[in-house]
Amino acid sequence: MGSKERYHWLAQNVKVSGVDDMVLLSKINEDAITENLKKRYMDDYIFTYIGPVLISVNPFKQLPYFTDREVELYQGAAQYENPPHIYALADNMYRNMMIDNENQCVIISGESGAGKTVAAKFIMSYVSKVSGGGDKVQHVKDIILQSNPLLEAFGNAKTVRNNNSSRFGKYFEIQFSRGGAPDGGKISNFLLEKTRVVSQNPGERSFHIYYQVLVCVCVCIYIYMYMYIYIYIYIYIYMLGLSEAMSVVGLSVEEQDSVLQLVAGILHLGNISFREENNYAVVESQDFLAFPAFLLGVPQDGLCSKLTSRMMDSKWGGTTESIAVTLSTEQACFSRDALSKALYTRLFDFLVDVTIQKDQEEFNIGVLDIYGFEIFQRNGFEQFCINFVNEKLQQIFIELTLKAEQDEYVQEGIQWTPIEYFNNKVVCDLIESKLNPLGLMSVLDDVCATMHAKGEGADQTLLQKLQGQIGSHEHFSSWNKGFIIHHYAGKVSYDVSGFCERNRDVLFNDIIELMQSSEFLVQTLMKCTPHYIRCIKPNETKRPRDWEDNRARHQVEYLGLRENIRVRRAGYAYRRAFNKFLQRYAILTKETWPRWKGKERQGVLHLLNSVHMDQDQFQLGKTKVFIKAPESLFLLEEMRERKY
Ligand code: ADP
Ligand code: MG
Repeated sequence: MGSKERYHWLAQNVKVSGVDDMVLLSKINEDAITENLKKRYMDDYIFTYIGPVLISVNPFKQLPYFTDREVELYQGAAQYENPPHIYALADNMYRNMMIDNENQCVIISGESGAGKTVAAKFIMSYVSKVSGGGDKVQHVKDIILQSNPLLEAFGNAKTVRNNNSSRFGKYFEIQFSRGGAPDGGKISNFLLEKTRVVSQNPGERSFHIYYQVLVCVCVCIYIYMYMYIYIYIYIYIYMLGLSEAMSVVGLSVEEQDSVLQLVAGILHLGNISFREENNYAVVESQDFLAFPAFLLGVPQDGLCSKLTSRMMDSKWGGTTESIAVTLSTEQACFSRDALSKALYTRLFDFLVDVTIQKDQEEFNIGVLDIYGFEIFQRNGFEQFCINFVNEKLQQIFIELTLKAEQDEYVQEGIQWTPIEYFNNKVVCDLIESKLNPLGLMSVLDDVCATMHAKGEGADQTLLQKLQGQIGSHEHFSSWNKGFIIHHYAGKVSYDVSGFCERNRDVLFNDIIELMQSSEFLVQTLMKCTPHYIRCIKPNETKRPRDWEDNRARHQVEYLGLRENIRVRRAGYAYRRAFNKFLQRYAILTKETWPRWKGKERQGVLHLLNSVHMDQDQFQLGKTKVFIKAPESLFLLEEMRERKY
């Protein structure tokens, strides 16, 4: 579609609701921002910009502007030409990658149910639509898109806030050839909420796959003799879609069978209960043992002893021997649950692994979709972990946008007035600091390492130690059941009961994983050109056109949108290294075409003077040119287009 047609289409289809880019708001405060978003939302415009940052409000209904027509409209178009759209951001990422030869990534943040996963899917499907054709490429595209339903079946669950909530963090990378065709993909998952396999909060459910398999298994359990046949018949009837997804990502029919059989096995593991006999646990009914043992492919008595005893090393006169120690009922339940969680996690990792990776990476576009900030009635260890990750992500955002923006001005010697903003590094330190003063995680690890007491005792010790060691921190306080952290997103009261056990036991590995992944995050993300989507959930009812002012304003606050606009307005919308700028606009003057012979800085100045750019519209730094208003840049782009 040419510029003229585009303009025509826009004039017919777009009415003006609020401002497209909130840099243009006449007043910058939370009320004005919320009001602008509301106005647009009520007119079915869910997207709004703050410069390059995209704000997206969950419409809770299908909107008509995600068709092939829009894909065409946004392809290769400049941001200002069309209304704000996630396709514009996706297109921008793809073009940047092709033109600047730089890796791109998008960080999608927002609370649970705000629309992060849907946004990630839009990006993937857009990129897959606009990038090259061919059989091999088609295969990669299929895998990219099909991995979604598969991972959702195994990693998503119904929660009170979102019927289809992703219970794992995902960093998805689409890899491209130099020609821009996708030819590989990689998924890193972290922080799968594995406790969900064995327990859920009221009103919530386990992972979707359970219910899909449950239907089949319920039928077969009564048809004992024929279960082998029946299980497959039913599984295939009910799960055709899933089976297709598994085929596309490269699982053989046998592997698919094993996957489903394993899920059924884990499901039945949960049915095994124990009773006490002479202080020790015995399996209540052997009947409940047979089926999971069969499904998991292990002997029945082997499974039984695995659940009710533990191997321990014992020294006998110089030799070490392994002896089986019988467990109490409580310990047996614990080991049953641990086994379920471990099996499920391995299975999930196996599924996530089934992606195509190239030997040599050229370019990639990464999408980070992670569950957002959670504040419930009762907040336990899981919420603490999730909120910490979000705190870190916010810090990266601050680093990369606000702070980096100001730092760059200083570095380049650009004249400008600094702006105050809240840096949440202080909250991250409160949680993760390993030096004086010790952070919360370190105190927790200390308590777990030195205390043998279980349950309540250890948790109370933890609370006392926290009060002693970080009690005076301005972002920390305590209450009768635990402690309160003043996160960037607001105050959250954590119930300390269960912290030690969860930290010490199964989730301990997750913390390490989490720490590593947040390092990895930071590193991976710092290496690519970042883009941001900030998702907002307008209500708790999940109904369309329902706008709760207070909820929305609260998110506007903690997403830091006001700071974002302020910094953006005070600064320069566009910056480019001298050589890249010269390369792009060389065609505009005969002295710069095909190549400027003198110093790059002089070349840029020559170019800007020749097109009569206003003196107050730009500044030249040490290595980069800074241009104030986006409009000035549009002008350059138009001139360039006319020359070609
Ligand atoms: P999150 O990943 O942030 O927890 P989701 O992306 O799963 O949230 O969105 C929750 C639900 O909201 C989706 O299942 C869908 O019903 C609805 N939704 C979100 N974004 C959109 C959108 N752009 N258009 C239509 N419905 C949406
Ligand atoms: Mg999600």
